[in-house]
Amino acid sequence: MDKQNEKIYVTQSSMPTYEEYIEAIKPLWDSHWLTNMGKYHKELEKELREYLDVPQISLMVNGHMALEMAIQAMDFPEGAEVITTPFTFISTTHAIVRNRLKPVFCDVKLSDGTIDETKIEELITENTVAIVPVHVYGNICNVEEIQRIADKYSLKVIYDAAHAFGVTYKGKGIGNYGDASVFSFHATKVFNTIEGGAVTFSDPKLYDKLYNLKNFGIRGEELVVSVGANAKMNEFSAIMGLCNLKHIDTAIQERKIRYERYYELLSDVPGIRFFDERKECQKNYAYFPIVVEEDYRATRDGLYDRLKEKKIYARKYFYPLTSDQACFKNKYRQEKLEYARSLSDKVLVLPFYEKLRIEDIEKICELVV
Ligand SMILES: *Cc1c(COP(=O)(O)O)cnc(C)c1O
Repeated sequence: MDKQNEKIYVTQSSMPTYEEYIEAIKPLWDSHWLTNMGKYHKELEKELREYLDVPQISLMVNGHMALEMAIQAMDFPEGAEVITTPFTFISTTHAIVRNRLKPVFCDVKLSDGTIDETKIEELITENTVAIVPVHVYGNICNVEEIQRIADKYSLKVIYDAAHAFGVTYKGKGIGNYGDASVFSFHATKVFNTIEGGAVTFSDPKLYDKLYNLKNFGIRGEELVVSVGANAKMNEFSAIMGLCNLKHIDTAIQERKIRYERYYELLSDVPGIRFFDERKECQKNYAYFPIVVEEDYRATRDGLYDRLKEKKIYARKYFYPLTSDQACFKNKYRQEKLEYARSLSDKVLVLPFYEKLRIEDIEKICELVV
């Protein structure tokens, strides 16, 4: 194939070798046990509990349902308010609204795109029940300050940690913070089970609640104890997860090499800025976002188009803000969102994945410089 004409997408799913996966799924043709919390579901749950260094975990069919169920498990009263960020994937806001709660949009910090913890308190009313922050791009929120506020006003904290698989802070898995954290194992994420997700938490009572929510509330052949949906992870997905987990450290290492090459080539470009890194945080190198400032020679959209002309598909994550989407616009209370809007107009996520060729990174950077 003519390399000049090869398309480069923003991401590419990590996969084990074909042989490895085929070998791993063979036992399913003996057992015929394809889902319903089978052997591999249980095995992956155990391995992820260890890898993510969390006390409890519940696997789900995808990250979005994990988020919906984590919120639902808290039993908030209908119509209550949840303080959250608009600078995220639409799933975060949908999960709040689909639980019949009202999102209240808080601004974010220009330094790393996470919720601005100094602006949360002014948004709290007597109807506020929770905070749903996002560790966006794997940049972790100010977890200490958010917890202080939550404790002061008796709020729950549910982190959207979809981007933060394997991130640690102060030596602890990021899923240990808040009342629950939600991970996505979607094909495009650092770790994937094709489609999949999980809720991590410490309260043991949540395990049964989430189990009932993800499996119709079924507790016996003739016993349904509560109203639930179907959000179980199947065995093919669980096996994909077990295979990918074997290679996750190498995958993150490969990402680190590519991250550093990008950084090296772009760090002196006038007008191109990177997000700040938190101290005592072990990154997962999930994405390579850049902020295209006013003093860059083109606009963010100009750069996006320029790359696209060369068949390099960067993405404007996250533009527009979720609060500006047609389904939510002018519907919910919000702060000025000055910084969120500004970031949303300037951010660009460059192609980034485990097997991205170094020469492609160099080619992309030549177009940016
Ligand atoms: C991917 C993602 C989700 C949803 O996860 P799925 O597994 O795709 O359902 C939620 N929030 C954020 C921030 C995400 O990036």
